[in-house]
Amino acid sequence: MKSEEENARRSEPDWQTSNVQRPNQNEIRDAFENFVVPSYTRFDLVLERGEGSYVWDANGKRYLDLAGGIAVCSLGHAHPEITAALTEQSSKLIHVSNLYYYELQARLAKRIVDLIAPGRCFFCNSGAEANEGLFKFARKFGHDENRYEIITTVDSFHGRTLAGIAATGQAKVKKGFEPAVAGFKHVPFNDLEAMRAAITKSTIAILIEPIQGESGITIATPEYLLGLRKLCDEHNLLLLFDEVQAGHFRTGKFQSWQRILEGAPCLPDGVSMAKSLGGGFPMGAFWVREKYADVLSAGTHATTFGGTPLACAVALRILDVIERDDLAENARKIGEFLLSELQGLVKKHPKILRAARGFGLMIGLEFVPDAAVFGREEKSPAIQIVNRLHTGGILTVPAATSVIRLLPALNLKRSEAEEGLRAIENVIVDLAKET
Ligand SMILES: *Cc1c(COP(=O)(O)O)cnc(C)c1O
Repeated sequence: MKSEEENARRSEPDWQTSNVQRPNQNEIRDAFENFVVPSYTRFDLVLERGEGSYVWDANGKRYLDLAGGIAVCSLGHAHPEITAALTEQSSKLIHVSNLYYYELQARLAKRIVDLIAPGRCFFCNSGAEANEGLFKFARKFGHDENRYEIITTVDSFHGRTLAGIAATGQAKVKKGFEPAVAGFKHVPFNDLEAMRAAITKSTIAILIEPIQGESGITIATPEYLLGLRKLCDEHNLLLLFDEVQAGHFRTGKFQSWQRILEGAPCLPDGVSMAKSLGGGFPMGAFWVREKYADVLSAGTHATTFGGTPLACAVALRILDVIERDDLAENARKIGEFLLSELQGLVKKHPKILRAARGFGLMIGLEFVPDAAVFGREEKSPAIQIVNRLHTGGILTVPAATSVIRLLPALNLKRSEAEEGLRAIENVIVDLAKET
């Protein structure tokens, strides 16, 4: 154990007290190792600043950011409109609590309702919290009939709170935290018959991600979504969509189910949102359909920081910019370009690449997991590729064991997409040579 004195000294690293010396990367890593809970496996990069779709590390090396903070930085880095919204609103009113009315939360709720359908919004601070709200909504709705069970899908991801990991259909997320919150079970994704068979008299809701992100970009079929709606109507169940990662115009429509169905009428009963909503300012929300507006009545749900004037000012400004610059269309167009180019690479390198799939700027590139070239390192193929892409100056996000995800800013430029493709192709050509 370290002495108290040493801990006190370490808590004030030299680089904090010196204006002259830039932090040394080893010191930063060292401080992480000594003071931060080691629950994340981090890549060996120390990032310092960003602008648009680029970030710079502590050595001054530039990276094209196709990771987007995991689908968070919807307008890229250091966007002047976000900076303006933050500075303007913070000099007026940052926080007052939900004991009072204020204009910006009402305006944001109306914007979201206008983009989905008549209903109500609740604001919170993260995706896990938005899903928690939907779980409470479902439990409250079913309470008097003693219905509480929520069916989710295998390989889903719904956040890291206790109920979030109970809802998540991945054993590795649950392991070590038993006993699990009761009332969740999982069935295979895109399998309507499995869902039908799992419904019991205790079931109250079905929750899915219309596009599964963490498990490698798996897209619900239109028939599945429409079939789930029908099942829910037949059994008086709530249909809940987790749009935390896929939502907010990333696919070319506000929410991904709207893109998958392209106008076919289908409305869920609840939708969770977060990631891109605040563009990096922490924010979550859920929407429930108007006929369920009264389920979470006064006193049943709350959070101190939910929908502060500052958070809502940022979210409203992001919606303004997305609309003004037609970023939904940009996401669709640039996404189609990226996907077709990546599919071309898949055809050219079948020994390395298995598939490319996605909608808009939510794209997964799947590698052949047992390609010999990946056998030399213990790390998963996904991690190996992401590392190689770092060397090539590109940030991407691993998913499952052999998929990399592209989740860039919605204002990604065509020239930036081309730059990303070149770097990806270089890595694949190298892998093919080494095979
Ligand atoms: C990221 C994510 C969450 C959890 O959001 P947090 O803000 O990390 O709590 C939930 N669902 C999906 C689909 C996600 O991608």
